[in-house]
Amino acid sequence: MAQQYYQKEIETMSAEEMRKLQSEKLVKQVKHVYDNVPYYRNLMDEKGVRPEDIHGIEDLHKLPFLSKADLRDAYPYGLLAKPLEDCVRIQSTSGTTGRRVVAFYTQKDIDLWEDCCARAIMAAGGTKADVCQVAYGYGLFTGGPGLNGGSHRVGCLTLPMSSGNTERQIQFMMDLKASILCCTPSYAAYIGETLKEQGYGPDDIPLKAGIFGAEPWTEEMRRGIEETLGIKAYDIYGLTETSGPGVAFECSEQTGMHINEDHFYAEIIDPETGEVLPEGSKGELVFTSLDKEAFPLLRYRTRDICVLSRKKCSCGRTLVKMAKPMGRTDDMLIIRGVNVFPSQIETVLLNEGYQPNYQIVVDRVKNTDTFEVNVEMPPEKFTDKVSDILTMEKSLANALKAMLGINPAVHLVAPKTIARSEGKAVRVVDKRKLV
Ligand code: ADP
Ligand code: ZN
Repeated sequence: MAQQYYQKEIETMSAEEMRKLQSEKLVKQVKHVYDNVPYYRNLMDEKGVRPEDIHGIEDLHKLPFLSKADLRDAYPYGLLAKPLEDCVRIQSTSGTTGRRVVAFYTQKDIDLWEDCCARAIMAAGGTKADVCQVAYGYGLFTGGPGLNGGSHRVGCLTLPMSSGNTERQIQFMMDLKASILCCTPSYAAYIGETLKEQGYGPDDIPLKAGIFGAEPWTEEMRRGIEETLGIKAYDIYGLTETSGPGVAFECSEQTGMHINEDHFYAEIIDPETGEVLPEGSKGELVFTSLDKEAFPLLRYRTRDICVLSRKKCSCGRTLVKMAKPMGRTDDMLIIRGVNVFPSQIETVLLNEGYQPNYQIVVDRVKNTDTFEVNVEMPPEKFTDKVSDILTMEKSLANALKAMLGINPAVHLVAPKTIARSEGKAVRVVDKRKLV
């Protein structure tokens, strides 16, 4: 099928033209922020940078960073760059890693955000002939409203389901022949599992594509969802601080997500030193909003760890690509001194034939970290014979040790005993923080 673009001119623009566009926008944006956001003006003054020093993208590195701590300090209005009467919406983070952050939008900001989501839907093969089921949460969380807006822009028949009520999701999907499903990957896996239990195979399900994001997920999980639902599953990335989902989206090549870099300029930095790293290096992703009006964050540190690439993409888009972020700097667990990302554990589980239904429990007993991984036995592996369970636990523990370098205590639990998620899954219970 021929590639479809929502905004072809931008999505396939040459690198030189894109940089020129970004530079023009940046110069204006820095002035807008300096004039209207005393909080950031102070940071710039402290660093001795003035708007006149910024002539283009090449000067971006001179600007100070913003972090989640700044957002909390400035809560709620301290980073607002437009009068409240010009704002039409607020959204808020899901609070995965602590207190919530609120973000403000003018109508232009909403338009820009919805355009980004429309680009994502069209890159996943969506057209006005599609029925798009949006099963991300609606409300303060950006998932539902963002994809809903994008779906309207493409002209899809939009089913604003929100998350939850899985029986009803399935009924609408089947009765109204939904062709695109948008939700978190953990909810997609749950919907898939429920469909399977109800006897539906991939050929019975009307879906052709899924747009899944808002949380980390592995390639193994992608393959599982694609097989169960009989679809192509596309990744989508975003965060409330920059608008919401649609900051980056996957195309048919499925090798990373194109960043909507006409709106969000991406840098990769060394999280320890703040130094900007060259293309291809792994580090912390930093975004600068080039044209948002109400909540325009400059050099915002996402804490997401990933890699950027400008390799030519077969879809024809020239937008820079980011690898799937495999965890945040603050997702990383340090257990007995070893760095552990939940995504590593998920990869091992799926490779060993388990489902992504697991929970990691970390605690500290007598000054030593304990590390447990509770995993559901898939129905087809289910047994209640103690010696078999012990053998399976041992073999999984060995596979995890090989990946992580430390030994977890693996507990296999009965199918369906780990809570399913309709939004972002809770993978880690770190009891050490409670002390
Ligand atoms: P919270 O920080 O409370 O979770 P958000 O709902 O704004 O707030 O979530 C944004 C974060 O979600 C991102 O910074 C990133 O860590 C994660 N995220 C979003 N999309 C993806 C994705 N496709 N893959 C991995 N992580 C993602
Ligand atoms: Zn592409």
